[in-house]
Amino acid sequence: SKENKADMNILLTNDDGIYAPGLQALHQCLRSRHEVTVVAPDQERSAVGHGITLHHPLRASKVALNAHFQGYAVNGTPADCIKLGMVALLPTRPDLVLSGINPGANVGTNIHYSGTVAAAKEAALLGLPAIAVSVQGRAVVNFDDAAAFAESLAERVLQQGLPQGTFLNVNIPNVPFRDISGTVISRQGTGRFDDRFEKRRDPRNRSYYWPGADSQVFDDDPEVDGAALQGNRISITPIKCDMTDYDALERLRRWRWDSARVGLPE
Ligand code: MN
Repeated sequence: SKENKADMNILLTNDDGIYAPGLQALHQCLRSRHEVTVVAPDQERSAVGHGITLHHPLRASKVALNAHFQGYAVNGTPADCIKLGMVALLPTRPDLVLSGINPGANVGTNIHYSGTVAAAKEAALLGLPAIAVSVQGRAVVNFDDAAAFAESLAERVLQQGLPQGTFLNVNIPNVPFRDISGTVISRQGTGRFDDRFEKRRDPRNRSYYWPGADSQVFDDDPEVDGAALQGNRISITPIKCDMTDYDALERLRRWRWDSARVGLPE
């Protein structure tokens, strides 16, 4: 019936492609009570960051799954999906954008590379409340609890609102919900990846490099996103699109600037 339907008008995307189980779980959870439109990449686009497509046309194919209209598969990036969805595909402006559920945590420096996070960031740039949702670990068995958490958080976000240009980056431990010990309003960690490249030789004896098998170095501070996950707690980090370093801005302004040499410090 119409009464309990369409609580929220949601634009749903991800960076793992429209057929990914994390997106399916979120769609399944949301669609009974909300108006959900899926606009997602037609293939996996993990770690493409906030890239957009400029040099070839974008196509949006209607995709149906389980007899329910699922949405649009786009031959572009997660950020493309948000732009195209907002400008060309959706008949009305959504109340909120959800991105995920990504298998694999998006914490610390990882946030800069994540397509999941970039989709939420693009939504925030367009003035919409947005949440990026990830579950720790590649082998996620159960997305359903995380989806239910995302739904209730989305409702909360719509009630409370978010500052203009700010979105939420949510990471959920990969354990049954009864084993989760709480929620931390966290900050982005600075621990970076222990990057590795495996050097190999091709059949023509030229060397090539496989990136991967990287392990993330976590900060100890319990208020940091990755550390929260380690303690089986859900981390929620507010992220700003404005990347200006205001402390550095003040310090730079106190440098003596030589007006005769147009902007060069003395
Ligand atoms: Mn992904």
